[in-house]
Amino acid sequence: MSKKIMLACVIILFLVASCSGPISLKRWVYNDTPPEEKGDVTMSGTLICLNCFFDQSEEARAFCASNGHQHVLRAVDERIFAIVRDSKTKELIESENYHNKAVTITGRIIEDSRAIKVSSFETF
Ligand SMILES: [Zn+2]
Repeated sequence: MSKKIMLACVIILFLVASCSGPISLKRWVYNDTPPEEKGDVTMSGTLICLNCFFDQSEEARAFCASNGHQHVLRAVDERIFAIVRDSKTKELIESENYHNKAVTITGRIIEDSRAIKVSSFETF
């Protein structure tokens, strides 16, 4: 009987040891579960600028005025997603026209990241 208990303990310890390696480290690094979606997802939120939203100094505003913004999507659940910069999104990311605009973005979440490759978007 005690041999069976010992064996069960060894098996449990082995399972715990083999499960708590890279997986828990990954969870700790992300501090969140990365989105699992593989296909296109649609998310609504606001386009905020990483530079002049979080640093509302004159210097930051001047930098954005001459170099363009660095818009990201702040989703309605407050998660922030980087927008992959391509021919479709260059204006969306940089232009003053989209600054603090409400937006719905459809696109693909890049695996294990908080970045979205945009298929289409609509601002309001
Ligand atoms: Zn800005």
